Amino acid sequence: MSRKGCILSFVFILFLSLLAGNGQVASAQSKFPDVPSSAWGHKEIHLLKDKGVITGHSDGTFRPNNTLTRAHGAVIITGALGLNGLKVSNPTFPDVSLNHWASAEIERAVQQGIFTGRKDGKFYSAETMNKAQAAAIIARAFNLSGGASSSFTDISSQHWTLKEIVALEHNGIVEKGGRYEPGKAITRAEFSTYVARALDPSFRLNQSQPSNETVQFQGEVTVSSTLNVRLGAGTSFSVLGNLKGGQKVDVYATQGSWYKIKYVNGWGYVSSSYVKKVSNNSNNTPNSVLWDRIIAIDPGHGGKDPGAVANGLQEKDVVLGVGLELNKQLQSAGAKPVLTRNNDTFVELDQRAKIANDAKADIFVSIHANAAASTAGNGTETWISASSATKSESKDLAEKINKRLVQELGTTDRGVKEANFKVLVQTNMPGVLIELGFLTNSKDAALMKQSNYNSRAATAIRKGIEDYYSSK
Ligand SMILES: [Zn+2]
Repeated sequence: MSRKGCILSFVFILFLSLLAGNGQVASAQSKFPDVPSSAWGHKEIHLLKDKGVITGHSDGTFRPNNTLTRAHGAVIITGALGLNGLKVSNPTFPDVSLNHWASAEIERAVQQGIFTGRKDGKFYSAETMNKAQAAAIIARAFNLSGGASSSFTDISSQHWTLKEIVALEHNGIVEKGGRYEPGKAITRAEFSTYVARALDPSFRLNQSQPSNETVQFQGEVTVSSTLNVRLGAGTSFSVLGNLKGGQKVDVYATQGSWYKIKYVNGWGYVSSSYVKKVSNNSNNTPNSVLWDRIIAIDPGHGGKDPGAVANGLQEKDVVLGVGLELNKQLQSAGAKPVLTRNNDTFVELDQRAKIANDAKADIFVSIHANAAASTAGNGTETWISASSATKSESKDLAEKINKRLVQELGTTDRGVKEANFKVLVQTNMPGVLIELGFLTNSKDAALMKQSNYNSRAATAIRKGIEDYYSSK
């Protein structure tokens, strides 16, 4: 029961309320008595309540000045984005078991890159969220960016969430000026209000006009009947209207599997499954051969498993840096990359393969770095499975990526090799395992230590993938 109580204390789970048959549970339309119309955030908090993203306590109150935990934050954010919980077979974090009341929401929030674990591999679900963490989470969840400098007197140019706090100011999520108090616990009222403003642009403060945002591309509705336009990115949001099959729309952003479009006088969201891209309006989409490709990126090792260690480098750090940069480049090119890990976490090999298979990835790209007993061993090689049904495709992909890496990095070309690595055997799609270079070789290691290494290696891998698709 403590689990139910915990959920009911903040998150609106309709069926639990119904099962409880509790006449005390306030209906979706009534207001929280402790958030009167005169209260700060009144409109915003009730927007989230009406959407079922938040609920009060069992006595009907909201308790606006209470704090909230990271688990609660994950539940609210995923709810606001209309994202379902993610069921996993192995928990990502040792301190968030599959029985944890918010396990599915935490897994989804992490998979979406909204929350990350800590350096020690744990999530700390019961930890109170502070205002800096909340800014980072909201900015990531709603892809908020922009702004030049902070109006807050206590946010230095060195602050770790400077960019995110500035983005919140720029997008009218937070009131400007005075002190932000980044280390202070965020209240339920503040977090809910900021999330609601991020979600519904009509609630934003001194909002920038939608017309100031740039069109990413033009799409065309592919359904034969009509396509619902919703207030938010999820089927739980109310329907604003609809579009007819064949109708053209300008797409301003992608949010999960939803496209953000301009609708009547504000924003609307349509399912990306029913809109195909017809023209490219964006300069940052250099090559459309990657458009909509689901590409699994698998940075090897992580957490307790450092991989190779030599010359002051750990393999897990090198490959994560390259993987994250590759993720960014693929997104900019219109692909849909999926990372098997996006922080310093240990992920089992079969779980890595499962992530790629579950995402129905088109290709699988595992990134590693090498080590040898002899410090003379050096160069770049790419492995494929010797026995896979997709072997010839994998070989083609491997050759193209390896060639680009050798060209870009100037490393020794060790070629494409075959071995039955578990991640390659267990993945259903063409897949490669890249060994970028040797940590144990001083020349390769020096290259990896250069500040532009992640960018150079990721660019080469992206170009190799582009070569692969261009040749189809
Ligand atoms: Zn490795």
